[in-house]
Amino acid sequence: MENVKICEVATILGAMVSKDARDVELVKKAYEFSKEAHKDQKRFSGDPYFLHPAEVGYSLATAGMDAATIAAGLLHDTIEDAGVKPQIMEEQFGKEVLTLVEGVTKLGTLRYRGLERHTESLRKLFAATAKDIRVLIIKLMDRLHNARTLSAVPRPEKRTRIALETLEIYAPIADRLGMSLAKQELEDAAFPFAHPEEFKKTKELLRERGSESEKRLEKVEKDLKRELAEAGLRVFRTEARIKGIYSLFRKLERKNWDLDKVYDILALRVIFPSVADCYSALGIIHAHWRPVPGKIKDYIAFPKPNGYQSIHTTVYTGDGGALEMQLRTESQHREAQFGIASHLTYKEVQSGTGQGTRGGLEWMRQFFPSWRRTVGKTEEPARTPGSVPGWIKELAHEPREGGASEQYLDTLRSDFFSHRVFVFTPKGDVIDLPINATPIDFAYAVHSDLGNKMSGARVNGKMVSLDSGLRNGDVVEVITKPSARPSRKWHDIAKTSMAKKHIRAALTAQQKK
Ligand code: MN
Repeated sequence: MENVKICEVATILGAMVSKDARDVELVKKAYEFSKEAHKDQKRFSGDPYFLHPAEVGYSLATAGMDAATIAAGLLHDTIEDAGVKPQIMEEQFGKEVLTLVEGVTKLGTLRYRGLERHTESLRKLFAATAKDIRVLIIKLMDRLHNARTLSAVPRPEKRTRIALETLEIYAPIADRLGMSLAKQELEDAAFPFAHPEEFKKTKELLRERGSESEKRLEKVEKDLKRELAEAGLRVFRTEARIKGIYSLFRKLERKNWDLDKVYDILALRVIFPSVADCYSALGIIHAHWRPVPGKIKDYIAFPKPNGYQSIHTTVYTGDGGALEMQLRTESQHREAQFGIASHLTYKEVQSGTGQGTRGGLEWMRQFFPSWRRTVGKTEEPARTPGSVPGWIKELAHEPREGGASEQYLDTLRSDFFSHRVFVFTPKGDVIDLPINATPIDFAYAVHSDLGNKMSGARVNGKMVSLDSGLRNGDVVEVITKPSARPSRKWHDIAKTSMAKKHIRAALTAQQKK
């Protein structure tokens, strides 16, 4: 296929956040190196193989990843498929790039052979990830391009397997990392191959009714702009959010395939400079259109567990229909699209509404509003690019007993995606805990000695009772006393098995004395 266009290095550099000369040099060099290494190889489609790593590099640049990650994305198949020696790669690109490529390579060598192998590969995936989350993000982008080119894969059962794996494993991981753009793209690329009949049915339904919601959106958008301007809100931009077809299918399943019950095939996003503007706009919107009861969700005050922040409301549009609106700031918008990837690089972004956002600690302040209040200008927390939340590390542990694969997969599907809260030590280390976790769980998660000597806790600078639930962004300080001892009551209060285990051990030890 000679009409296929390989992503050019200039395009990748253009999408890259950093314009630093060394970063540019690294990416250019990786591009040329990979192109040369893959020059004799072809994809299933007959296209030059290099098309694939070039796309992966481009996706990573678009997601705002750093130069080392983009370079590793360009080189990710050169060890495995082009026989490049790790030593050469290290000489040419340094240890960091080599480690990333080896991480991705390790994941790639695992082949699916039924559930047993599948879960093993998942475990290894997380084990590799636990060292550096950038490996997982490269893998997601690798899978994204492979999912987009599934139609060229000759064996139908292989197509189905890759598509199902993409839906069941990769898209949920992207979701858990807050990478909603990647999630939707993974799902929509895999859906037609994983569930062809359902795909056709959904598409048909959408084709019949899609234009109706488009017209509605256009009209509401016009009215909204006028209403906001009249109320003095002039700085904002709007965009249409089209629901992914897989996500629509999942919703239709829950609504008995009644498209009238799905209000958000199209949604109107309104992006403002500040959080205060979002709340003002909500008032203006509700004064003009009647809101649908029960559809107002304030994810700014109460972010989703993956960090998502926006205000959602659905309003009756007066033509028998309804439309969802999503109000957010520019930084919340970027965060919502790229999730954790937007935190891994220290970057500056000049947004359309003219509000600049600084990297570094700034993401934490947006992600966890209370951080700003309670921590203020203290030193930066120890956080290096690629550092990993604890819940991923937990997943990397070996399953305990043999034949636990099924159970492991269950754990993965439930625990992995169940709700977590992220809280901070006074020094700024992030500790993640299940939802409703208490200061007791926090103390034991940091260290068993800290738990065993705990006499009280401060959350965001205020003394709290030990059974109070922790919330995203809380800064938790454990107060210790040499004479303090765990009690039976603590055991009842604690939510994590780790805390309970330590408390039981301490109680037993006390009894023996
Ligand atoms: Mn690949």
